[in-house]
Amino acid sequence: MSDNVFQKCIAPDCGATYSVDEVLVACPKCGNLLDVQYDWDHMEVPKNLQHFEKYWSERHVPQRFSGVWRFHDLLPFTKLEKCVTVGEGQTILRASDGVAEFIGMNPGRVSLEYEGMNPSGSFKDNGMVAATTHASLVGAKSAACASTGNTSASLALYCSCLQTMKAIIFIGSGKIAYGKLSQALDYGALTLQIHGDFDDAMARVKEVSKDLGIYLVNSVNPFRLEGQKTIMFRILEALRWQVPDWIVVPGGNLGNSSSFGKAFHELKMLGLIDRIPRLAVINAAGADTLYQLYEKQGIRWNGGQPDRVAIQGYFDRMNAENRRASTIASAIEINRPVNLEKCLRALEWCDGVVRQVTDQQILDAKARVGACGFGCEPASAASVAGTKLLREEGVIGKDERVVCVLTGHQLKDPTATVAYHSGDPKKFDETLAVRGVTSCDFANNPIPVENDVDQIIRAIQTHQTHP
Ligand SMILES: *Cc1c(COP(=O)(O)O)cnc(C)c1O
Ligand SMILES: [Zn+2]
Repeated sequence: MSDNVFQKCIAPDCGATYSVDEVLVACPKCGNLLDVQYDWDHMEVPKNLQHFEKYWSERHVPQRFSGVWRFHDLLPFTKLEKCVTVGEGQTILRASDGVAEFIGMNPGRVSLEYEGMNPSGSFKDNGMVAATTHASLVGAKSAACASTGNTSASLALYCSCLQTMKAIIFIGSGKIAYGKLSQALDYGALTLQIHGDFDDAMARVKEVSKDLGIYLVNSVNPFRLEGQKTIMFRILEALRWQVPDWIVVPGGNLGNSSSFGKAFHELKMLGLIDRIPRLAVINAAGADTLYQLYEKQGIRWNGGQPDRVAIQGYFDRMNAENRRASTIASAIEINRPVNLEKCLRALEWCDGVVRQVTDQQILDAKARVGACGFGCEPASAASVAGTKLLREEGVIGKDERVVCVLTGHQLKDPTATVAYHSGDPKKFDETLAVRGVTSCDFANNPIPVENDVDQIIRAIQTHQTHP
């Protein structure tokens, strides 16, 4: 691959660089995370963002049809022809006045970026397509990940399409939504249910993939985060290249937030945008490491020298208390986010804020999102619940332009949805009650009715509502 592209340690006091041909998940010198970096001075850089519009007429080329590789000029770590694609990134940004009203914002100011439209139903495909492209370039025969579900669904999909690589998936036992598990199985991935939670599965997959030389596609993989930058490019595209005031995203392993920060930092550096939107990362209250460190302890990127002693102290206490992540939003049920330092950097670049929301707030927001035209899974709705909170606090103004990223599709986790709409938190094996959910204010429960025409008509007349 070309010398203009390399991997670079994010720690400024290390800054070691490595070839993109190397398969690394951490800096061999200091152990920190790696970025993919480009020597833009020696590469062809688009003069403006309108540049990308010319590709719209090339949709017959699979890589131009892809919502990721359409922006290849901004993640050119290999030649366009070598990029894997299954048609990812055909997503939509749509303003929702119903959601704006729920949040307490003016009409036209809240848009939802619907990543549920990806081939495997979550934003993960944006990153997985870049990681599997890199894995193919280095000739990997098998690829592994630990997953709360969507990463595994995405990896399994790409491997089943490619047929050159076997997917090996590590999941915590009993910790995966059925929609996601069914995908991994149906796509034929080797699926290991580890007796433990996500943080355990993550630790094991790192060890095992090192021992067996398996390509690791968790978001410690810097190529994945390159692909995820394009979510931001598509938002700008949909806004006719106008920069919004806020991007709001749920935070789990913090790959997305890290990648969004890098996207905007690079666009600004290249002179393609004149300002950077603010970033809000939303944790679930039951998995709020970033919130605790950033907002409560004031930990900052600090020029690449975050207070690592304080961070380690936080994790030591977590271990001592055997504190485990717990939230209905299983995609963000993570207490040890692997991209923590990259996310701190993104929060600095984007003048970011972090909030936490309860499972109650998440599920109420999810029901409003569903009723307003986009179905999402619980974790995704954290972005809307978080925006509502930031609006109530006055951090986000009524008339600011906000984009909430809906990270995954409604059908990923039907159990949570049906439990909420039953209208009673105690139903469904206490799925909701054990999570502190006490009300289902936006429930739309099914109405039981006799097998009789008159009674059916009466039921419709009694319950029918009009918009
Ligand atoms: C993976 C995932 C997240 C969390 O994203 P991170 O990059 O790990 O912070 C949020 N929502 C959904 C639906 C996901 O699949
Ligand atoms: Zn290093």
